[in-house]
Amino acid sequence: MNTNFPINKIHNIKTPFYYYDSGLLRNTLNIIDKERNKYNNYCLHYAIKANSNPKILKIISQYGFGADCVSGGEIQAAIDAGFPVSKIVYAGVGKSDWEINLGLDNDISCFNVESLAELEVINNLASKHNKIANIAFRINPNIGAHTHANITTGLAENKFGIAMDDLEAIIEKAKRLKNISIIGLHFHIGSQILDMSDFKALCNRVNDIQDKLEQLGIILKNINVGGGLGINYEHPDEEPIPNFAEYFSTYAKHLRLRTGQKVHFELGRSVVGQCGTLITRLLYVKEGSFKKFAIVDAGMTDLIRPALYHAYHKIENISSSQETEVYDVVGPICESSDVFAKSVEINKCHRGDIIAIRSAGAYGEVMASQYNCRELPKGYITEEL
Ligand SMILES: *Cc1c(COP(=O)(O)O)cnc(C)c1O
Repeated sequence: MNTNFPINKIHNIKTPFYYYDSGLLRNTLNIIDKERNKYNNYCLHYAIKANSNPKILKIISQYGFGADCVSGGEIQAAIDAGFPVSKIVYAGVGKSDWEINLGLDNDISCFNVESLAELEVINNLASKHNKIANIAFRINPNIGAHTHANITTGLAENKFGIAMDDLEAIIEKAKRLKNISIIGLHFHIGSQILDMSDFKALCNRVNDIQDKLEQLGIILKNINVGGGLGINYEHPDEEPIPNFAEYFSTYAKHLRLRTGQKVHFELGRSVVGQCGTLITRLLYVKEGSFKKFAIVDAGMTDLIRPALYHAYHKIENISSSQETEVYDVVGPICESSDVFAKSVEINKCHRGDIIAIRSAGAYGEVMASQYNCRELPKGYITEEL
């Protein structure tokens, strides 16, 4: 575990809870800022859904990022945290009227539209507000990412986006809508992507689409390529900050832009994933003839990723330096899938030991539930301990 973890300060805090290393978060944000400044046409948005803890949002909003939202609640959270409305983009396959109205009332910078039906509703609501809504079309580029099936979003079979074959017809219809201004194209192919060739494939697809649109006389201001950059879950201490230089240069190398076009990014996991740790206490070691279970007080209600998509998180017993043993690390929830890891080697466990579940800053606290009438886990940043 990261040597600056304040284990001596956490003994009085009720477990489980999330601990956020604000120093690492700031270092990550500084690197992103430095790398994106190598290009004069890159605009960055933080994907609020990865972690919307107000303390985290507050830090991120200080770095000049925009916000990528997928609900009205997230639009509000972004505004409350100080993200400028002129840099808020809003995506989602099922936008409710009140959510669209919230976006219109606040003059957000762009609605990423996923269907013709939605486009018509936005046009109607914008007309009632006497406003012109900026929109980008979210296109389903039919590109598979080398990641878990449940977190790919850019395949034809996924519910997201407009099929490429339908794009022309929708643009023709959109041109006739009075309260709509088309400002861009939007893509997002999935999450936890570590193979740069997936992003290269997206670039090639965007290039093809742009060529086709250009023949129709359509050139749009913004190309939004979404997010999806992965983090190193196996070795969080060896790679605490993802390779943003390589990520940004992949787009610079492969995307063919038209004059004046801007590239928008929506990064979530890669910004916050490594700075978060779920801290839990060991309740019991259950030794059977078949297996040894380390039963902890955190469960799938606090961190659902392992149960939801068999995600791997590194687990460490930070109270013990005894020889490792092999355990199934499980939670207290009444579900067989409430398992953090099977057959992992960790330092010998004792009741009361503090167990760290690493790389839990993204899609952790935000997905917590109160199933089994449990309390939601709290989140603390370094300065609070
Ligand atoms: C979830 C999401 C993102 C962020 O994805 P990460 O893998 O966390 O970077 C970006 N854009 C859209 C539209 C999303 O739904």
